[in-house]
Amino acid sequence: MKILVATEKPFARKAVEGIREIVAEAGYELAMLEKYTDKAQLLEAVADADGLIIRSDKVTPEVVDAAKNLKIVVRAGAGYDNVDLAACTARGIVVMNTPGQNSNAVAELAIGLMIFMARNKYTPGTGSELKGKRLGIHAYGNVGRLVGACGKALGMVVSAYDPFITDAAYFEAEGVRKVDSVEELYASSDYVSIHIPATPQTKGSIGYELLNRMPQGATVINTARKEVIDEAGLMKLLEEREDMKYATDIAADSQAELNEKFGKRVFGTPKKMGAETAEANINAGLAAARQAVGYLRDGVTKFQVNK
Ligand code: NAD
Repeated sequence: MKILVATEKPFARKAVEGIREIVAEAGYELAMLEKYTDKAQLLEAVADADGLIIRSDKVTPEVVDAAKNLKIVVRAGAGYDNVDLAACTARGIVVMNTPGQNSNAVAELAIGLMIFMARNKYTPGTGSELKGKRLGIHAYGNVGRLVGACGKALGMVVSAYDPFITDAAYFEAEGVRKVDSVEELYASSDYVSIHIPATPQTKGSIGYELLNRMPQGATVINTARKEVIDEAGLMKLLEEREDMKYATDIAADSQAELNEKFGKRVFGTPKKMGAETAEANINAGLAAARQAVGYLRDGVTKFQVNK
């Protein structure tokens, strides 16, 4: 069996060493394709792979078609919107993510962005504190929960909206107010931290109407996906509401225009930074290798996302 690690943006060295060990222990062959610059390189490398481990790399129908032996794709990370699930499912290829492995890194970045924006992007002038402010968590999954816990530790008053978690006790046990509509969440939060996955339903779902419900001086932090924001709506909002701020990992498509028009009120990381810590890299990389081996050797389908 051959497992290919294809990473345009490579894993940390320590993660690669760990992956190598896990694959060798299983008696499998490991192939590495790092920092590739052309899709053709991926198409060639994947041709005889049984397993494929990726990060933000795109698995398109063309890649699936080129990978004649492929049985499993593991996306080392949480979001799997870079994998064409329909194409994989049609070929019987199992797709997995590695939930929770990079959540802490993303949560810390979200809190960091809140402080950065509250302090005017660390430029001279009077900022504000997070303590006592209302924090709304939009999607209470692995990252959202950690952001909520950090917010509480900083003295913020935390609410959350997640229609897929119906048990109120789940929120109560963590001292978080459960909010029953997304409109209410935005209307009652000084900070909203976005953690919804990018799906056909959520893409472009956060726009002018929703954002304009936020109170005076509000800040939106998006460490989910840029695609969930309706950028035209965001632009209109920031034009009309000089009190509002927006920070995002990764930069919006219209970030240059946003920066030019709104200066200190907006920020976008030039590259996706959320999971870019050594710890997250190692956790997700090793989990991906274990999951790929677990499926190829033992048929374990835990964390399969295309069931
Ligand atoms: P997760 O699967 O643990 O949680 C996602 C949560 O979203 C779930 O609780 C689900 O019920 C909820 N949800 C789904 N659709 C919703 C909707 N329409 N409205 C409200 N809630 C909804 O995922 P996670 O690990 O918390 O990550 C969340 C997202 O963050 C990922 O999908 C990914 O896009 C993004 N992410 C970004 C980075 C980064 O580097 N910036 C890293 C990891 C994850």
